[in-house]
Amino acid sequence: MPNVPVAVVTGSNKGIGFSIVRALCLQFPGDVYVTARDPGRGQEAVKKLQEEGLHALFHQLDIDDLQSIRALRDFLKEKYGGLDVLVNNAGIAFKMHDTTPFAVQAEVTLKTNFFGTRNVCTELLPLVKPYGKVVNVSSMVSRSALGKCSGELQQKFRSDTITEDELVELMTKFVEDTKKSVHEKEGWPNTAYGVSKIGVTVLSRIQARMLNEKRKDDHILLNACCPGWVRTDMAGPKAPKSPDEGAETPVYLALLPSNADGPHGQFVSEKTVQTW
Ligand code: NAP
Repeated sequence: MPNVPVAVVTGSNKGIGFSIVRALCLQFPGDVYVTARDPGRGQEAVKKLQEEGLHALFHQLDIDDLQSIRALRDFLKEKYGGLDVLVNNAGIAFKMHDTTPFAVQAEVTLKTNFFGTRNVCTELLPLVKPYGKVVNVSSMVSRSALGKCSGELQQKFRSDTITEDELVELMTKFVEDTKKSVHEKEGWPNTAYGVSKIGVTVLSRIQARMLNEKRKDDHILLNACCPGWVRTDMAGPKAPKSPDEGAETPVYLALLPSNADGPHGQFVSEKTVQTW
């Protein structure tokens, strides 16, 4: 079915990802995939949408597992000849009062939020078709965490010439620094989630630059965004936004019209480009 447009949302069995799929089912003219690391939870989500009269499809995807990412890549290549919309939504966060040692929290959080998301991008970005859209769900916390980094780190993360390898080196260094309990001395903020989301925002800026350099004529738009503070298992019941409201900015970016030339390479919140 090389001519059927296809959209994939990572971590979409619940929370904001589920609401992104729901909105895409209503607005995206093509096949929409719920993906989940657990097939049972994924199929359950598809069933729930079905009960609302919406038709989504399912494919397994654990972003921590390279084999799982490659299986999805091969499936998309084979069935659709590529991919039109990719929303990197899957993410984790330790609860505020979790007593897991900080170095473990850093390793586990970075593994999924930064390295997992990057692996998905490495495998799937080459499949994204002309006029495709890529949305990396980051967080406003990336900006506040950036403000708490040393001046030297801030300069690196705001640089317009930082490479993906350099970013990977910095994210790896953060994890190593937490293990040696020197992360604060080395200029890092005391938030593993915040650093992982700095990684997602900076990665998005780099990827957009690479698309400009290597695939300008394909008109692909790639952005990072914040969904806002949203009532989900991650953020708890006190957050002001419903998951459907949290999906609005990611969906806006996923459905930018084909004649739009931006936003691209931006950090977007409330459908508005933010300074980085
Ligand atoms: P959530 O309800 O906890 O949902 C997270 C989703 O990610 C779940 O489907 C989860 O699957 C999935 N996931 C986690 N690790 C995965 C992996 N290794 N492979 C595949 N899927 C994985 O959280 P949420 O609030 O909807 O968050 C969605 C995104 O928004 C995250 O990137 C989060 O950082 C970001 N965000 C949220 C808020 C907020 O206020 N909620 C604010 C800013 C940014 P399981 O069910 O299997 O665990």
